[in-house]
Amino acid sequence: MADLPTVCATIAEMRATTRAYRAAGKTIAFVPTMGALHRGHAALLQAARAQADHVVASIFVNPTQFGPNEDFHRYPRTWEADLAICADAGVDCLFAPSVEEMYPPQARTVVEVPGLQDQLEGPSRPGHFRGVCTIVVKLLNIVAPDTVFFGQKDAQQARIIRQMIDDLHLPVAMIVLPTVREPDGLALSSRNQYLSPAERAIAPQLYRCLADVQARYHEGERQTSALEAELRSELLDVTGFRLDYARVVEADTLTAVDCLHKPGLALAAITLGTTRLIDNVTLP
Ligand code: AMP
Repeated sequence: MADLPTVCATIAEMRATTRAYRAAGKTIAFVPTMGALHRGHAALLQAARAQADHVVASIFVNPTQFGPNEDFHRYPRTWEADLAICADAGVDCLFAPSVEEMYPPQARTVVEVPGLQDQLEGPSRPGHFRGVCTIVVKLLNIVAPDTVFFGQKDAQQARIIRQMIDDLHLPVAMIVLPTVREPDGLALSSRNQYLSPAERAIAPQLYRCLADVQARYHEGERQTSALEAELRSELLDVTGFRLDYARVVEADTLTAVDCLHKPGLALAAITLGTTRLIDNVTLP
């Protein structure tokens, strides 16, 4: 087995580690995660490995990005398997702080990106992106990487974090990598573990519907109302899916336009049993 990463549980240890990397003139790539690592995370870790002298990953199930009725307590925690995936990917250092370390009782400051956070996932998950932005800016301040990696799987999150990095002049380059999928198209997600075998069999229909819209786009359709109507009706036709949203928007602004002249995104969220799944495709 490859060497296990150094594990840092405290902010002081983590800062000392990356300070030593920088003092030696080395570059640092960072991959923040909530653990329960899969091939999607591994792709980010491998890209980070190829990009910098040192790779830091974090595993922190961030309570502030979960709503009161969401799955914070049952979110999968698979520490041993995660360590092995990090070792295989060549991660040098794994930051795994406690909730108390990241949110001491006196902590008050939050980070928000109004506008971009208020649509799509926003209405269904109030406060989610405030939690995401606040933890990501804390992690970036602690690790101080040259480059940070995110997945297109969470397209709205990636767009919001890019805005936050720009607006706060954070000295880090951001790289977004394509969604890694199962052979049947289902986007890899830590939450796929919640699906029963019957639900798992239906779940790939989410991507199938998005891919159909992408095909319509490639055939020349640019009217978002037509693309969105097709996406919505196909998703509503899938027995077992409860539709949350189905949208076709401009990728940069995440807002509706009549006609797509700039890069777009088709995004959807559905619930299957008790599991909420999100996915998206880029247009083109
Ligand atoms: P999470 O552990 O779910 O917070 O995800 C950590 C990072 O991995 C985020 O940047 C996600 O967008 C990314 N990610 C999650 N699933 C995938 C996937 N299937 N393909 C690529 N990246 C992913």
